[in-house]
Amino acid sequence: MRHSLFACRLSLLLAIFLFLPSISMAFKTENILFVMTDGVRWHEAFNGADPDLMPAEDGKGDDSASLKKKYWRDTPEQRREALMPFTWKTVVPNGQIFGNRAKGSEAHVSNGFNFSYPGFNEALTGYGDPRVNSNDKTPNPNVSVFEWLNRMPEFSGKTGAFAAWDVFPFIFNAERCGFPVNAGFDAMTQGKINARIELLNRLKVESARPWGGEPYDCLTYHTAFEWLKENHPRLFFLALGETDEWGHAGNYKEYLDGIRRYDMYVQELWETVQSLPQYKDKTTLILSTDHGRGVGPEDWKSHGEEIKFSEQIWMAWMGPDTPALGERSQVEAVTLSQVAATIATLLGKDFNQFSPQAGKPIASVISKDQ
Ligand SMILES: [Zn+2]
Repeated sequence: MRHSLFACRLSLLLAIFLFLPSISMAFKTENILFVMTDGVRWHEAFNGADPDLMPAEDGKGDDSASLKKKYWRDTPEQRREALMPFTWKTVVPNGQIFGNRAKGSEAHVSNGFNFSYPGFNEALTGYGDPRVNSNDKTPNPNVSVFEWLNRMPEFSGKTGAFAAWDVFPFIFNAERCGFPVNAGFDAMTQGKINARIELLNRLKVESARPWGGEPYDCLTYHTAFEWLKENHPRLFFLALGETDEWGHAGNYKEYLDGIRRYDMYVQELWETVQSLPQYKDKTTLILSTDHGRGVGPEDWKSHGEEIKFSEQIWMAWMGPDTPALGERSQVEAVTLSQVAATIATLLGKDFNQFSPQAGKPIASVISKDQ
C-alpha cells in the first residue's frame, strides 16, 4: 500500500516534470528582429536582377558594365545570390522564404491599397484596415504587436523601432506606443546613446534631403545598429526606404544597390546578435516588404491599387523555432497580415486573442520540435 502510493506520487511528479517544459518553454525565441525594406518585388528577391530592366550593354548609363558585373549572372539562382547573398546563403537554407509564384508559393498584402502606410499597418497590427487608406501623418488607431507586447512586463522598455520614412512615428503611434520610434531625420536621444549615434544625429541635420522626410538608408541603419548594441532590445524593428524611392525614380541601378545594402545590413545585424548571449540561438529574424511593384519597363517603377501585381510580396523567416524548409513551393498562400500573430506566437503569446481580426500565425514557420 505504502509502496504503491509512493509509486503513484512518483509517477505524478514525473508526469508534471515531463509536462512542464512544454508549457513554460514552448518556444526558444526570446527576441525578434523584424527588418523590412520598402517596395521590393518578389521578382528580384527570387530571380535577382531583371533582364528587362537592366540597362542595355550599350546604354547611355556609365554604370552598365559595372552593374552587369555586380548583378548579372546566367541563372536566376546565381543572380539572386549575387543580389542578396546573406538571404540566399544563410537565411533560406536555415529558414524559410515565401513568395516565389513560379514555384507555387504566393505571398501578398491583403489591404487592397498596395502602398506603404496600409502595408506597414498590416504587417505590424495584423490586418488591412480600410480606414488606413493614405500615407498621411495620421496617428494609427490600431495597436501594433510591438506595442501590445511592450505593455507586458517582460518586454516593457525592451523595444526599439527605427525607420527611414518619417511617417513611422504615426504608424506606430509614437505618442501612445510607449517605446522609441526613431524615424526620418529625427535625432535619436532615447535609451543609451553613444558617440556614433551623436555623430549620426549630426549627419542627419547636415545631409541633403532629396526625398523630404526620408534620409538615405545608411543613416537610419547605423543609428538602429548602434542603438541595438547599446540597448539590447528584445523587440527590434527596422524599415529601410531607399528601395522604394529609387524605384519611383526609375533608377534600377540604385534600386538594386539598395536591395544589396539591405541584405548586407541584415547580415551585420544577425552576426552581431548571434555573438551576444542574450540573442544567440534565441532570436527570430523576419524579412519582408510592405508592397510589391508592377512588372515591365514602366510599371516596375510604381505600385498601388491601379498597378497590377503590386500586392505581391515575399517574406523570409529564420530562427530557433523555424524548421529549415528553405524556399517554399506548392504551399498555402501567406499574407503580410499574418506576421504580427506569428511574432507573438513565437514569444508564447496569443495576438489573436487581443486582436481577433489579425491574420492567423503561419503554422509552418513555428515548430516546438526544433
Ligand atoms: Zn512602400
